[in-house]
Amino acid sequence: MRRKKASSAAEAHPAGLAAAQHLQTLVRIPTVAPPGDAPLPPEVAEIFARHRAAMEECYPRVFAAASVETVGRAGLLLRLPGTVADRPVMLMAHQDVVPVPQDWEAEGWEFPPFDGTIADGHVHGRGTLDDKGALVVLLDALESLLEGGWSPARDVYLLFGADEEQHGPSAVAAVAALEERGIEPWLVLDEGGAVALEAFPGLKGPAAVIGASEKGIVTVELVVESLGGHASTPPRESAPGILGGALVAVEGSPFPSSLHDLSVEMFEGIAPHLRGPLKPLLRRARSLRGPLASVLPRLGPELAAMVRTTAAITMLEGSPAQNVLATRAKATLNCRVAVGSSVEDTVTHLVAVIGDERVSVEVIEASEPSPVSPTEGDERWDALVDAVAASYPDAVAVPYVMMAASDARHVARIAPAVYRFSPLLMDKKQREAIHGPNEKVSIDSLGRGVEFYRALLTGPALGPAA
Ligand SMILES: [Zn+2]
Repeated sequence: MRRKKASSAAEAHPAGLAAAQHLQTLVRIPTVAPPGDAPLPPEVAEIFARHRAAMEECYPRVFAAASVETVGRAGLLLRLPGTVADRPVMLMAHQDVVPVPQDWEAEGWEFPPFDGTIADGHVHGRGTLDDKGALVVLLDALESLLEGGWSPARDVYLLFGADEEQHGPSAVAAVAALEERGIEPWLVLDEGGAVALEAFPGLKGPAAVIGASEKGIVTVELVVESLGGHASTPPRESAPGILGGALVAVEGSPFPSSLHDLSVEMFEGIAPHLRGPLKPLLRRARSLRGPLASVLPRLGPELAAMVRTTAAITMLEGSPAQNVLATRAKATLNCRVAVGSSVEDTVTHLVAVIGDERVSVEVIEASEPSPVSPTEGDERWDALVDAVAASYPDAVAVPYVMMAASDARHVARIAPAVYRFSPLLMDKKQREAIHGPNEKVSIDSLGRGVEFYRALLTGPALGPAA
């Protein structure tokens, strides 16, 4: 990587400054949605209405050219009509952000989280990376294209969810509306991967990691019931004790690991750019599948999560008082299901390793891993890779399996090719700041993000039919 990192706005990509100002405007509107499906309380609805008004003000051409409808609680579905009806495209970003503690200074924020301060070549604040940064670069790209007289060859749908962070209903409602109309987006792009620095040990330059699938989720409750009684005469085995044994068993017997085709493709793509001991191994990822699947989990939790289903113990419940025996002990497991596995496999594994009928295993919420979208050799994948090359010429673009859950998982039902990628540069610290303190995006990267969407929207794949 020869390019100098932008340290001031003056060096940044020319499109970055306008995007930075738009981003600042939107960050100042604290769009935190409550969980659940219930209508937004008036004070929250008012905040989302302000956010929509600010978007309309920043992007008058987009909102004038598009038909706009509200989906779910405050989600927005826009349609920019193309000249031909086939191959519609859907580009997504969410308007809502995760909350910030009242005492944000104590959490270590350098700048007020809802100020959108522009300093040191960056825009600072909640949502700058997740996901208002992506929303802004997408809309800036469209606005500038429309300003230059461009019009889309294909229908372009824009879906701006309003409760992604709460797993809320706006994306679900949008997908249902499209399904009812018989619309099958040919290409969908939502948040997920990024142009990541320090993405792999031994990789110096940035990697544009594009999610081509995402893991599933199973939330499981383990419950043990017992007779309870007085703490002065405890039974030999208590409900919490039995539950504890089950939890130790779950942690002691990890899910089987295997290297999915997508991970093989990712490693093969990265390998030529690597330095160090992993290079010769990853170059031969296809033939070394088995050994890699067993070695990678030992190199840290991220690599472990890449090759298998994981189970995280989250909530624990037992007795309500210090001198009362628990009649019921409960633990929650948050499991992420590997692509290639299933919800059923996950539950079967848990029941088997626990091996104790006194522990009931109950599924609270489940969604299967997403289908795998086409990669190398597919026109849509190539269009994304070309747009990365136009905006981040020194980044190597590779597919990966996304480990978090996004709105995109709802869309897979109606769309054959769903990708998860924000064209924003993120180093390790920035990735850690998502949902934490000091979230920030560089102005240069905002400019490149605009470039990415301009290249994607005007490239041959989305152009007029041949
Ligand atoms: Zn997000």
